Amino acid sequence: MASKISKADLFALTIPAERVTLRISNAAAVSGTFTTAITTAHRLPSLQLHQCTRNKWTASTYSSIHWSAFYRSFKKRKLTSQLRLQKFSNGWLPVGRIRHRINPDFPDSCPSCWGRNETSDHIMRCRDHRRAELHYSQLDDLDDHLSKTNTPQSLATAIIKGITGWYRNPNYQIPIPRYDRISSNTVLRKALTDQNAIGWGRMYSGQISQDFQTVHNVDRPQGSHDRHANAATLSDWASKLITLFFDQVEDQWKLRNEALHGRDRAENSLFHRAILQAKATRLYAYSGNLRALDRPILSQPLTTILDLPNISLEAWISQTEVTLLRCISDANDDHVQTNTIDDYFLRRRDG
Ligand SMILES: [Zn+2]
Repeated sequence: MASKISKADLFALTIPAERVTLRISNAAAVSGTFTTAITTAHRLPSLQLHQCTRNKWTASTYSSIHWSAFYRSFKKRKLTSQLRLQKFSNGWLPVGRIRHRINPDFPDSCPSCWGRNETSDHIMRCRDHRRAELHYSQLDDLDDHLSKTNTPQSLATAIIKGITGWYRNPNYQIPIPRYDRISSNTVLRKALTDQNAIGWGRMYSGQISQDFQTVHNVDRPQGSHDRHANAATLSDWASKLITLFFDQVEDQWKLRNEALHGRDRAENSLFHRAILQAKATRLYAYSGNLRALDRPILSQPLTTILDLPNISLEAWISQTEVTLLRCISDANDDHVQTNTIDDYFLRRRDG
């Protein structure tokens, strides 16, 4: 019988004429099996190390995470959602902290509660009235979901407690229930200890303890066990739970962005205007750094500038900013006037 070459072996073969191979972290080759390649790369030590460092996980904490349930839930989502969730998980979403770092004109604050230094974690922890209202309705949905999916009461209570604890304190650790000799709760204790190490907030990124699923499976009434249950059905409860968490992150992110950009065009333009006015005000604050000859750039009263329609205000800012920066740098370089004052007046008329 001819030996069959598996698909994996086939893709591992190098074609002699092949000049370019796309590789992830110099290891897994990306080919037609790119999904598998990316999954493999995920497990590569370097990437594992990155995740461990970022989340302060040990290797054993990493391996206590139910990764197969994560992937089952993750791969069912649209690509845009997958990207958003990956960014959320790694702290790359354009939250205040990131936007401000890229462009200092953007405030670093949360657009809902105006708290300073908005982080990825803050998306699920914001206390603004509307956001908190959504948070509490999401908790109710979580509670409903857990009971609909026949989650053992002790586990359901622990999950709700863990999430609410984290909402109050990002380093929340759930107290481990005392060992009970009569109704032994070893698996639950192990699951909660693991989730304490993983972090309760990481549930929103889809990282939950494998033993949650075990607690769920063990608790099912006798006789309902399917001896032929495969890995997929065994991670079913966990992947459904992860899907719920992912949806909740998406909903909070959406509400957060409504606060930032407005719910419609009119609101959007109002928000945009507020940013422009703040910027114009900042430019006027530079007037003290200007030489007397350059001051006519800011001759109009600030109030007149602030009353300009958005489009003119935007044009004024872009013109004035460049001119101002040049004047300030000239003033710093030497005290000789290098540009004629007419030059600046012309510029203003153009704007
Ligand atoms: Zn906030």
